[in-house]
Amino acid sequence: MTRPDAELRAIRKVYPGGVVGVAGVDLTVGSGEFFSLLGPSGCGKSTLLRILAGLEQPTSGSVRIGGEPMDRVPAHHRPTNLVFQRLALFPHLTVAQNVAFGPSLRHTSRRETAEIVGRMLDLVGLVGYERRHPDQLSGGQQQRVAIARALANDPTVLLLDEPLSSLDLNLRVQMQRALKRIQQESGTTFVYVTHDQGEAFAMSDRIAVMNDGRIEQVGSPRELYLTPRTRFTATFLGDTNLFEGEADGTDLRTDGITVRLPARGNVASVRPEHVAIGTRLDDGYDNRFSGTVRDVVFQGSVVRYTVVLDGGPSVSSEQSADAPFHPVPGERVETGWRTSALTVLDDRPT
Ligand code: ADP
Ligand code: MG
Repeated sequence: MTRPDAELRAIRKVYPGGVVGVAGVDLTVGSGEFFSLLGPSGCGKSTLLRILAGLEQPTSGSVRIGGEPMDRVPAHHRPTNLVFQRLALFPHLTVAQNVAFGPSLRHTSRRETAEIVGRMLDLVGLVGYERRHPDQLSGGQQQRVAIARALANDPTVLLLDEPLSSLDLNLRVQMQRALKRIQQESGTTFVYVTHDQGEAFAMSDRIAVMNDGRIEQVGSPRELYLTPRTRFTATFLGDTNLFEGEADGTDLRTDGITVRLPARGNVASVRPEHVAIGTRLDDGYDNRFSGTVRDVVFQGSVVRYTVVLDGGPSVSSEQSADAPFHPVPGERVETGWRTSALTVLDDRPT
């Protein structure tokens, strides 16, 4: 990693009344990273972001930004800016005046402020909108102004708390691309909070998966998806087939079948796209079972099959919609996966 821009050490937050918001988090975000905190509602993402911003004091633990301890630095003196879902543009100011707000507070010269405003509006793709008021902009455009306004302060770390969640799906996807580009072009470190796996995958260099006030795993989207370490990470990031049972060497006895694992373990996962289906599978599939198709869900580019294994559990298999073999419910099939496609998980329950 490059120089760390945000460091959280042993952070705990217990709210008055005893609710544990954050239950012990260590995290380092490198300079220039697009870093996401991903997890279900209530897992502590916003609390952690507000602690970075200085809007919330941790019960214990320490925060550094840009290498500097922040414990005694109030929010308005921290080199951070926060962008929310519900944006707080000044309605009576124009786009240019909104973006100029931060620099003018710092007594930046008129000339320099104009230069910053021009550069920021160029960055977010809103050149030509300088004189409009927020109510003359679409939701996506307003959110771009909010980001330009935050970046005009040249923060060391830009903090974003579900900034796209009020936008409809098409606009959200478009804004994800825009945000990723803005982050890369500005080189600013982003810490981005979302409960949406697709959103985190689309933009992040690295993601911290959070559950119940803790971090389950940190990694690139690819690492997290392909090699989840915990049951929570495996099931939260997309669908998966989970097997739980008794280890016997590297075999796992579960629910009437024996699954061969790449290593000893009591819990293992295999993604539906790694589960093959056919009339007869070749020997490369060292986990191979006969079964009956229970249902078929056509999803456009892919088809999802649920197959009940003989004397065993059901498994999900995802196949390309144009695959030559497309069985129907009730049809007898063989289904299987390679041992190497299985991931052995931590068997601590969540
Ligand atoms: P997320 O952003 O992941 O949805 P939050 O950080 O908002 O989660 O909340 C984490 C936990 O802390 C939740 O149980 C929430 O109810 C609780 N919480 C958040 N803010 C407060 C508060 N001001 N007072 C008491 N409990 C709070
Ligand atoms: Mg939140």
